[in-house]
Amino acid sequence: MVTRNEILGILGDYRDLAVVTVCSHSSLQLFHGARQEGFRTIGIAVGNKPPKFYDAFPRAKPDEFFLVDSYDEILDRADELVAKNAVAVPHGSFVEYMGAKNFLKLRLPTFGNRRVLSWESDREKQREWLEGAGVDMPKRFRRPSDIDRPVFVKYYGAKGGKGAFIAKTEKEFRAAIKPGQKYTIQEYVVGTRYYVHYFYSPLLEDGYRLSRGSLEMLGIDRRDEANIDEMYKLGAQESLREYGLYPTFVVTGNVPVVLRESLLPTAFEMGERVVEASLDLFGGMVGPFCLETIVTDRLRFKVFEISTRIVAGTNLFISGSPYSDLREAGMSTGRRIAREIRLAQKEDRLGEILS
Ligand code: AMP
Repeated sequence: MVTRNEILGILGDYRDLAVVTVCSHSSLQLFHGARQEGFRTIGIAVGNKPPKFYDAFPRAKPDEFFLVDSYDEILDRADELVAKNAVAVPHGSFVEYMGAKNFLKLRLPTFGNRRVLSWESDREKQREWLEGAGVDMPKRFRRPSDIDRPVFVKYYGAKGGKGAFIAKTEKEFRAAIKPGQKYTIQEYVVGTRYYVHYFYSPLLEDGYRLSRGSLEMLGIDRRDEANIDEMYKLGAQESLREYGLYPTFVVTGNVPVVLRESLLPTAFEMGERVVEASLDLFGGMVGPFCLETIVTDRLRFKVFEISTRIVAGTNLFISGSPYSDLREAGMSTGRRIAREIRLAQKEDRLGEILS
């Protein structure tokens, strides 16, 4: 892993910063937000010519493209990005395409604390962190023979719900499980899903204060998932199995939602506890994170996952959200990240938010 001293050394020579990210996921929002805060922007793309679709969005088109033959190449060509005074802003696809191991080795100042990765990517450690923070999670079943209610089975590292399935009995579990892959069995929580977008600033000491820094809520979305969201139109899931149709949870888009207002205090307390625990466990995560929750009819949150960087659901709120507007009109998560970098630069505290 690249060391803190190496990154501080690189930053020592930085002057006119640029924001760089991979051309996917939430890049339009990130480039647009960085530009609003006065940064140059660089888009990393695979291929021998820039992706055409940016031409359709001139206010979100990076100032410059950095073309690579494969995502592995980013690691070897980091020096070129350093020469451009670039700061990487990671998103889910950036880390996924590069691979977590390579991402940890990248010799380029990167927004956020990279140490969070080991806590996020291992489902056991994630549970240790979240439950240790006092956050309620879906019950976990250690053995398939313990299954006594509908359960949700997911594979380690599976992104976008790929391969996940529902089972109601051990027999159903055995029929669907793919051998040789690590999995986790959770109770299937019945309720409504809310993906809450938070932003933790270790720099700001105003608003919703934590022991160090402050917490903001920038928006909430719900994911559209194929084909579970539309399956009901064909009839009961059980009867569809004879046609080889099983529910899948592949994210295809996002819709905006707001929470019942009386749930907001709990949502903030959850975010607060997760940040405080991260400060104790690994020096704290920085910037955007998302608690993926289901609210039951008893108005209780169950958190089934955490994402510790910008999530694609924030793309809904490029011009602000019903929550971020109450702090500053028009603030997207992409712009908020750029604002944090700008603030740290002004206060000579870049070492606290980059790693
Ligand atoms: P994940 O792979 O954890 O992001 O989950 C993918 C999708 O599966 C979520 O967006 C939810 O729709 C659903 N899901 C995950 N965990 C549960 C659970 N414990 N109960 C019900 N649905 C779940």
